[in-house]
Amino acid sequence: MEKLTNIGYVREIMERHGFSFSKRLGQNFIVNPSVCPRIAEMGGAGKGMGIIEIGTGVGVLTAELAERAEKVVAIEIDERLLPVLDETLSDFDNIKIINADVMKTDLKQVIEDNFRGLETAVCANLPYYITSPIIMKLLEERLPVKSITVMVQKEAAQRLCAAPGTRECGAVSFAVRYYSEPRVLFGVSRGSFMPSPDVDSCVIRMDILKEPPVKVKDEGFFFRLVRGAFTQRRKTLSNSLSSVLGIPKDRVREALSEADISPTARPEAVTMEQMAIISDRLKDTI
Ligand code: SAM
Repeated sequence: MEKLTNIGYVREIMERHGFSFSKRLGQNFIVNPSVCPRIAEMGGAGKGMGIIEIGTGVGVLTAELAERAEKVVAIEIDERLLPVLDETLSDFDNIKIINADVMKTDLKQVIEDNFRGLETAVCANLPYYITSPIIMKLLEERLPVKSITVMVQKEAAQRLCAAPGTRECGAVSFAVRYYSEPRVLFGVSRGSFMPSPDVDSCVIRMDILKEPPVKVKDEGFFFRLVRGAFTQRRKTLSNSLSSVLGIPKDRVREALSEADISPTARPEAVTMEQMAIISDRLKDTI
């Protein structure tokens, strides 16, 4: 779909439809012709696949996905883009556009209604203002998808793909590793977008796990604990957990010791397995 990476063509079609970029909706469209084919291929678009895309823009990635996959369902919040897409994607009969906010969309239902008999994956260049909430929604809803391939800001990619127990990790890294095996696929420079954002980007893929890497007694409590551990990164783990969860410090210290963690450890020093042990021990006390 070279045309949709041609800046002159994209400007002309936008002008004709009276469309202007919305910063609020994170509208930075890809104009580097090498990026979308790579996302589509590495994201698993192919025969027998149904692909969910989030945020179409003028359809540059949508078209690459539709060329390879059996069917594409794309969710786009900005209704001003609908007449543009009617024109840019008119060559395809395997694309369905849903004009909706992805955060308010029942994605399980979308998959059930559209992808019967197909394997499913998510591919998207995400709007940066809402990256983490979208990724958390995709993971926590346990959608029947094989993988989630998304372009995000470079710093967000590092945090999302960081292994628990390493300096870069945060609460979101635990969530990502609980549900998937993440990897950074490739970097994309800011000049690959129109308009150009202030930061570079990365494409990451999360391959969904069949089973979480740890078994915990109470998943809800486990994630409360993880969020609590990282709310004040500078505090020691025992102080954060005791104040956020309202559990006496000596009980927290006992649980840390059972997981072989020093009482002065910081949250980023804790592995997934250790967090699971702390969660199960503390759960027993409340
Ligand atoms: N896929 C296109 C590309 O790569 O050029 C556009 C990507 S642009 C970074 C993000 C797109 O997501 C925009 O089209 C924007 O309107 C859309 N968007 C923003 N918030 C959304 C939401 N909550 N639900 C669905 N789409 C959204």
